[in-house]
Amino acid sequence: MRGAVLHAPGDVRVEDRDRPTLQEPSDAIIRLSATCVCGSDLWPWRGVETSDQPMPMGHEYVGVVDEIGSEVTNVKVGDFVVGSFWSSDNTCEICQAGYQSHCVHRTLMGTIGTQAEYARIPLADGTLVATPEMPAPDKIPSLMAASDVLGTGWYGAVAAEAGPGKTVVVVGDGAVGLLAVLAASQLGASRIIAMSRHESRQKLAREFGATDIVTERGDEGVVKIKELTDGLGAHSVVEAVGTQESMLQALNSTRAGGHVGFVGVSHDVSLSGDLLFMSGVHLHGGPAPVRQYLPELIDLIWTDKINPGKVFDLEVSLDDIADGYKAMDERRAIKALVRF
Ligand SMILES: [Zn+2]
Repeated sequence: MRGAVLHAPGDVRVEDRDRPTLQEPSDAIIRLSATCVCGSDLWPWRGVETSDQPMPMGHEYVGVVDEIGSEVTNVKVGDFVVGSFWSSDNTCEICQAGYQSHCVHRTLMGTIGTQAEYARIPLADGTLVATPEMPAPDKIPSLMAASDVLGTGWYGAVAAEAGPGKTVVVVGDGAVGLLAVLAASQLGASRIIAMSRHESRQKLAREFGATDIVTERGDEGVVKIKELTDGLGAHSVVEAVGTQESMLQALNSTRAGGHVGFVGVSHDVSLSGDLLFMSGVHLHGGPAPVRQYLPELIDLIWTDKINPGKVFDLEVSLDDIADGYKAMDERRAIKALVRF
């Protein structure tokens, strides 16, 4: 089968890889219907995260079940399925509490590499959620978004306690930030302020429910948020970038007693004890338990209540996936989709 492998920074190649086989009775093999490039794939691609070995790439996936192990009962061959970037048993205490991304038996799907024609899904019963029937082609981008960026934006908004009566700020206008705007809107937030300086992304943020746009960033952005919130700061702030600047922007934009949901993959963020002690805010985040939200998100997509697939503004073939990495790195594209 064909699959993407990163050999060195900036050098992602699509080459012949072994077609995966069942390794455990709880595994399934899926034939991918779509995959995509994640903002977090750009960290190794840029050389910020390094590896001595060639790395199979990709952790987002939707597809059709091709084979199941002898213990798999929740999905069957031929089902169209969506899964998260962590496999999870969905039965351990941590999963049952809604934190499937910290499952005691988890596997990071990025180590398997789903930018490929086939993928092995460990713990298929807990990891995969089948759609009611085979989706129409126009639903596939939105279902693809549910695999990571929608679920992650949703978790960011939940962790920030977005809801009725709340002013929500979203720091970051990548796919996760934009879908955190959509999530905050679905959760009933009264006011949603998107921080973005890119016109096309501002437009999509407004389509997804943003009521205000702030183009300033850093300390100037914080001043602007304070101006818009009677000097208090927002009730709820989603941090969807993962840098020192964005984290400080998020923390300092939150009022005392408010909540920060941080879902940008953290790189070299360092917060002082003094800052944390004096902030008086709730901090919650990390890798999103997307699996918790999948049934609800699939239903919202299936019934045409949300259209998160709009974040895909570039489509490439698997063989040309390097073009998707480049376009996202240069911010020419929000998110690149590959369909099979
Ligand atoms: Zn578990």
